[in-house]
Amino acid sequence: MNVPFVDLAAVQASYKVEMLAAAKRVMDRGWYILGPELEVFERDFAAFCGTHHSVGVANGTDALVLALRALGVGPGDEVLLPSLTFIATAIAVQEVGATPVFVDVRDDNLQLDVEKCAVQVSEKTKVLLPVHLHGRMSDMDAMLSLAEEKSLHVIEDAAQAHGAARGIHRAGTSGTLGCFSFYPTKNLGALGDGGAVVCSDLALKEKLLHLRNYGQSEKYVHDHPGINSRLDELQAAFLSVRLKYLEQETEIRRTLATKYKEQLEGTPLWFPKDPRDAFPVFHIFVVRTQKRDALQQYLKNNGIECQIHYPIPVHRQKLFAQIGRGHGNCFVAEKASTQLLSLPFFPGMSTDAIAFVCEKIHTFFNKPSPPAFG
Ligand SMILES: *Cc1c(COP(=O)(O)O)cnc(C)c1O
Repeated sequence: MNVPFVDLAAVQASYKVEMLAAAKRVMDRGWYILGPELEVFERDFAAFCGTHHSVGVANGTDALVLALRALGVGPGDEVLLPSLTFIATAIAVQEVGATPVFVDVRDDNLQLDVEKCAVQVSEKTKVLLPVHLHGRMSDMDAMLSLAEEKSLHVIEDAAQAHGAARGIHRAGTSGTLGCFSFYPTKNLGALGDGGAVVCSDLALKEKLLHLRNYGQSEKYVHDHPGINSRLDELQAAFLSVRLKYLEQETEIRRTLATKYKEQLEGTPLWFPKDPRDAFPVFHIFVVRTQKRDALQQYLKNNGIECQIHYPIPVHRQKLFAQIGRGHGNCFVAEKASTQLLSLPFFPGMSTDAIAFVCEKIHTFFNKPSPPAFG
């Protein structure tokens, strides 16, 4: 049996008829940018998140860039973010000219460590930027109380966490601004690039509307610097189809994750912990082991494709060798990056495929040492 890491065609197959109808609707209307499809999606996505406003943009990286710009973050400002994240979180901070300060993650759930953030706050710090990694939420209670104590903004990178919750918090809605990506492999994925910023503040929403559209306040009137970063009508129409089924898909992801956990019992694999009041949405399914590389190779030899999220912590990237602060401080991220393995995982993955992967993992850990040659 061959098990791919992700099979997007399988995920999207059941939406094909509705998506083709959505594409036809857009083409019949002949309106492709900033039109009615986007308006509907923005309204529904804000409601899904549990907040008032959402502003569609071109991708998740732009969502972060525009969120930082909307809060006036720029050169001379420091932004605290986790060292274990997708590179885009840090690139967005660099893009606005601010300095990324890399902070370690917690060993138990790999989320940004708030206690370590507290130590790194300086008079230059403007923003705490937690990432809800792997579809589980960071500790927003602790994050918000640190932000209040130090007068900081919180921007949530919720690119992997559409619909995730923890306690009273829903991903993207507790900070000043929440940023989402609709890259095809994300929990809510378009058929191309897409992103959104969500917020409850009307003035911030209006600022974002200008920023994404050449800084334009009225047609051909430009008061603010802006860029061209919009979620187009076709993607908005596709996303509206996907959004209708997102809760259903999340349940499928959670069921698959439970199956994996049950069937991997008895192996020495380690799973990130979820507090009892958490609702993780499993963007991916990660396990941890000191034998990561050997396990990945063994599974590959058996037709099972895994990935690593992420093999190099962001503060170790050459790109940030000069400006990134965090060297020598992110031991957990460094260790985790040598131990994390993401198993095949996607809605539409068969029960047989999960059983096959788990069986191979059991065999790997139980197999006797290979006989010496000669
Ligand atoms: C995917 C992702 C982004 C960037 O989103 P794009 O749409 O690819 O630009 C940012 N942060 C995290 C944590 C992500 O997973």
